[in-house]
Amino acid sequence: MPILEKLAQPGQARHWTDSIPLEYHYTAGVAGEEFRRELRDNGRFLVSKCSKCKSTYIPARMYCPDCFIEMKDQFPIDKPGYVYSFTCVNRNRSGSDTDSPVTVGLVKFEGVKGGIIHLLAAEDPDSVSIGMKVAPSLKNLGERTGAITDILAFKPISTVPSKITVEGGRAERQNVGKVDDQARSLLHSIEESGYPVEEDEMTISSLRSKIGKGELLTREEDKLLRRLGDKAREWRKAVKSSSETEPGDTLSG
Ligand SMILES: [Zn+2]
Repeated sequence: MPILEKLAQPGQARHWTDSIPLEYHYTAGVAGEEFRRELRDNGRFLVSKCSKCKSTYIPARMYCPDCFIEMKDQFPIDKPGYVYSFTCVNRNRSGSDTDSPVTVGLVKFEGVKGGIIHLLAAEDPDSVSIGMKVAPSLKNLGERTGAITDILAFKPISTVPSKITVEGGRAERQNVGKVDDQARSLLHSIEESGYPVEEDEMTISSLRSKIGKGELLTREEDKLLRRLGDKAREWRKAVKSSSETEPGDTLSG
């Protein structure tokens, strides 16, 4: 009658070792599930649009985080994404070296909040750049399960500038390419510096979008980009010097 036994000493308790079979199922949530279904069945990304603030979110979600209202408007997008940020990884999750470097990026979509972090299929990591247009490469329909791994990777799509309308286009085209590269690398260095861009976020995102599309910046925008570049450089310097004086308090890049 163990239930009636009274144990006066903890040492009197009998015990044995066994295991309890427990299984957990985590759901992706209502909108998360719809996103996965759309990816599996139609190979497209589902987004949600808020009826109040008109923001669109990827992946689809049920509530607008700004307005706290349900977003009933959901639709797939098929526009290309762009590389918002990326890094190159040489080790796997257990810390051992990978056979070849793996490029991972945050892919965002024009006019859509949020994004998808995934592999970037680039033969040469040096060929990846911020703002580069990419499209998902998916598993075949029969192999898709609704997992994020239904996406094999994001692949660069050709972004040949087709904005040459003036005569003597050849010279213009070379010029445009050069400006784009400069602006792109400046934008990259601003983003990499960790400079808090909050108040300039709008500016940065409009520049990013233009640069991503390969559009030429206006003189004003160019000035702005350079000004932000200077700020980011100062920021980087300040972070560096503070990490030299208080090495314990600062996590360096
Ligand atoms: Zn909203």
